[in-house]
Amino acid sequence: MAEESQPKKGYQCEFIDPVPGHLKCHKCKMVARNLVFVNCCMESYCSGCISERESCHACNASKFSTVDGKKHLKSIQELKVYCSMKSRGCDWSGTVEEWETHIDPNLDNCQYSDVPCPLDCDKMIPKNLIVQHMADECAKREYTCEYCDFKGTYEEVMNVHLRECKYVPVQCPNFCNVSDIKREQLWQHIKICSREELLCKFSGVGCEDRFWRKDEAEHMNQNSQSHLLKTATTLATVNKELRQKLLQQEETIKTQGAILSEQEEKIALQQSTLDNHNNRLEELEDKLFKQVDDYQINLRHQKHKEKQYDSLLPPDMPQESNTECSASPPKQRADTLTLSMSERKEFVLQDFSKIKRDELDWKSVPMYTSASGYKFCIGIDANGRYNYRGKAMRVEVNIMKGEFDDSLEWPRSAEFTIELINQQGGPNLEYTSKKMTLRRTASDFSYVGSFQRVLYDGYYGFLEHSQLKDYLINDELHFRISKVEFP
Ligand SMILES: [Zn+2]
Ligand SMILES: [Zn+2]
Ligand SMILES: [Zn+2]
Ligand SMILES: [Zn+2]
Ligand SMILES: [Zn+2]
Ligand SMILES: [Zn+2]
Ligand SMILES: [Zn+2]
Repeated sequence: MAEESQPKKGYQCEFIDPVPGHLKCHKCKMVARNLVFVNCCMESYCSGCISERESCHACNASKFSTVDGKKHLKSIQELKVYCSMKSRGCDWSGTVEEWETHIDPNLDNCQYSDVPCPLDCDKMIPKNLIVQHMADECAKREYTCEYCDFKGTYEEVMNVHLRECKYVPVQCPNFCNVSDIKREQLWQHIKICSREELLCKFSGVGCEDRFWRKDEAEHMNQNSQSHLLKTATTLATVNKELRQKLLQQEETIKTQGAILSEQEEKIALQQSTLDNHNNRLEELEDKLFKQVDDYQINLRHQKHKEKQYDSLLPPDMPQESNTECSASPPKQRADTLTLSMSERKEFVLQDFSKIKRDELDWKSVPMYTSASGYKFCIGIDANGRYNYRGKAMRVEVNIMKGEFDDSLEWPRSAEFTIELINQQGGPNLEYTSKKMTLRRTASDFSYVGSFQRVLYDGYYGFLEHSQLKDYLINDELHFRISKVEFP
């Protein structure tokens, strides 16, 4: 209370008894607050109503000083007053000193003095009306849209929400007599509104009339004749245009058809040329494979013969095979050679350590299962695979494109028994393959010329490297096919 930036004027109260004149301020005419006297004419003032920088309001003296009126303070404080809120209904009365306590907003005494609204609407409201203000008047009170469930402050609902609320009733823009259209239903209403302006359905054929929806039926009735006439005229024109277009398109189709059949003929011609080429190519390929096979067989057998058998076998060896071979008619010169070799079905793997070191894919000489049987060779993988990798040697049987394939039975079950000769004189290592199916698939020529396909995925643990010493002499391994059965 003591620190107020604005100097206060006198006490603006309703005094119960008459107040002596010297207690009233000469300037504001109220009972003086912090009473002072001026020494020019001894008039009374509130200390806030007079300044020594201006002249005296009573005698106009430009120079004066003020004298403290403290000795009158008690008489002022003891003056009897009604509450300044008497006009609002406060019936309190007491001394000036008591009144200052009664009206202090921090002390909550006078129920008729103004306090700021607790909802922060920036209004000052008499304390006795605050409940009603917060319930019914305050812009910041909670408020529910009367058309939907939306909740917000009163000013939010009124100033923002209602402008977009889908359920607010709106006026039809055609001012028809339907009321209570919800905002979200307006466009649906327009589709059926009796006063919506429509363009005649026959506008496409030239009726340019516009009318309200409710008058549409009447327009149709009254103008049926003219609508029909317009339709007929338009139809005739359209018909003519269409017929012309149709003719044009027919012409185009004819031209394109001719071009198409010409191209078809060309394609057929090219196709037959291509077929001829293909046939010729296949013939050549067959011949080529045969030649390569024969050549390889001859070569191997020659070498083999020179190295292995010249010294070991009696010179009349080739005759032996002729006894079996006699069942089928003798074919080409190469057959005799192949058969005589393969009847023994023995083969030698040389340079084992090099094959092992360089991981070479080694294949044996080609052999036949019988004099006119299935052609095959044995593949050796010195280092094994999977679990046996680096530990054991693996063998596999490869079926090849053979001389007698055309007269053989396909597919055919077979079992091969392979022997590895023990060169120390001990028992040979023998292994019989699982039953496998020999198939003839000319398209499956994955190896150029000779190897048709691997039919048996091999035996991985055929010979463990630790046992090599009994079988490996002079870096050579000697094998024999001891049995081929067709179970
Ligand atoms: Zn004053
Ligand atoms: Zn004066
Ligand atoms: Zn009061
Ligand atoms: Zn308020
Ligand atoms: Zn709403
Ligand atoms: Zn309407
Ligand atoms: Zn019309």
